[in-house]
Amino acid sequence: MNNYVFPPAAVPSLPIVGSDKRFAVNRIFCVGRNYHAHAVEMGRPVDKATMKPFYFTKTPSTLVESGATVPYPCGTINYHNEMELVVAIGAEGFRLAESDAARMVWGYAAGLDMTRRDLQLVARDQGRPWDLGKDFEKSAICTAIVPVGELGILDKGNINLTVNGATKQNADLSQLIWNIPELLADLSQFYHLQPGDLIYTGTPEGVGPVKPGDCINGHIAGVGDVALTVGEPE
Ligand code: MN
Repeated sequence: MNNYVFPPAAVPSLPIVGSDKRFAVNRIFCVGRNYHAHAVEMGRPVDKATMKPFYFTKTPSTLVESGATVPYPCGTINYHNEMELVVAIGAEGFRLAESDAARMVWGYAAGLDMTRRDLQLVARDQGRPWDLGKDFEKSAICTAIVPVGELGILDKGNINLTVNGATKQNADLSQLIWNIPELLADLSQFYHLQPGDLIYTGTPEGVGPVKPGDCINGHIAGVGDVALTVGEPE
C-alpha cells in the first residue's frame, strides 16, 4: 500500500554470478581520467603528485544489463565506448582509510561508461557540468556482479574492448592512476558510501566513436565480459 500518485520506478539492479538474488543499485559514481594514456588522449594529462581524482555521477536509472541493444542516443554525432572495471560496494563507509577497502568491496563487474563525447567536450570546455555528455538514458552498461571472494582487492589484470572484433582498448588494471583503496578513501571524504553503490573506475586509452550496428565486447580478466550492440537512432 502506498500513497504515490503514479507507480514508482523499479529499483535498478544487476544479476549476481552464482546466485538467484540481485544486487540493488543505489548510486553510480564514475572516476574521470584514471589511466595516464587516456588522460593524454583527452588532452588533459594527470600529475598524481599535484592532482586529486575527480568524479561524476550517472543516475541509477541509466543502468542497462550487458547483452542489450541500445538505440544510438539522441543529441550526439560522437557516441563513444569507455571500458571500465566496476566496483560494487557492500558496506557503509565514510572517511575511510585505504586499509578499509577489503570490507567495502562486495564484488566487481565489467562496465561501459558510454559517452556523448561531443556534448561532454562542449560542457568541459565551457566549464559546464558533464551531465548531457555522461548522464543520459541507457548510458551505464554493466555485467552481473562477481562476488569478491578470493579476487580480493584487484590491482592487476587485463582490461580490453573490441568493436566488431577489432581491438580498440587493451590495458591492465595495474595502470589505474588511483587504485581501488585510494579511490574508496578519497570518494568517502565527500560521500557516505552505501551498499549498492557502484564505482566505474575509469577507462584506458582507445575510446572512440561507435555507430549503429556495431557490436562492442569488453573483457576484464577474472571479472567478466560485457557486450553491447548499438541500435538505430530513435
Ligand atoms: Mn569513464
